[in-house]
Amino acid sequence: MRIIGFIKTSLLDWDGHVTAVIYLPGCNFRCPFCHNREVVLSSDSMDEVPLEVIEEYYVANSEFLDGIVVTGGEPTVHADLPKLLSRLKALGAKVKLDTNGTNPDMLRDVIGSGLVDYVAMDIKAPLDEKYDDLAGVRVPIDRIKRSIEVLRGSGVDHEFRTTVVPILLAPTDVERIAAYIGGASKYAIQQFRPGDTLDANLAMVKPYPRGAILAMAENAKRYVRKVVVRGDV
Ligand code: SF4
Repeated sequence: MRIIGFIKTSLLDWDGHVTAVIYLPGCNFRCPFCHNREVVLSSDSMDEVPLEVIEEYYVANSEFLDGIVVTGGEPTVHADLPKLLSRLKALGAKVKLDTNGTNPDMLRDVIGSGLVDYVAMDIKAPLDEKYDDLAGVRVPIDRIKRSIEVLRGSGVDHEFRTTVVPILLAPTDVERIAAYIGGASKYAIQQFRPGDTLDANLAMVKPYPRGAILAMAENAKRYVRKVVVRGDV
């Protein structure tokens, strides 16, 4: 398993936690709004960070770190992800996993083995043909649905999250997602950031204004227990 990025301290990647962050290479999606171009498209040219360096750092700083976030790319495309999570848990670290939900079997296994303490799963779009537009590839929707069910039945802390991209996602789409995950413990609505997006056509798209984002959040509260808004609104 190549680790191709390491942030020593982050306050942004796990609500209420001070964490280190590990980046794994590659992704099976090509979301047009993605900002991790290098991680997704050309990770082979990125330097590897030895796991031992991360382990040493975590042990030396475990007093002020609450845990480690494993992100990508899409971590579950790696068959040896469970091994990495085991190494992190052996440090005594709490572990958060970010996923796009395309590998429900691995998700179920790592949760069942106690290898994750928190999971953040993207729901890119309503669970229909629109999903392909937001993921940039043909998506096996049944896998996304199964991952949602795995999380809902798992007992592990988790959240679902959606990046709201104007042009591609309407407020009614966000409501449909919230309705689908009705009763979920936490749903994060994430502001879109233009700029260096995978699809250059989105680079100049203006994000939804604050009022629109807050209205989406208010609406989502009708379906899920807690809604948070992230990003520059
Ligand atoms: S799932 Fe989409 S946003 Fe996340 S890393 Fe892959 S391409 Fe980027």
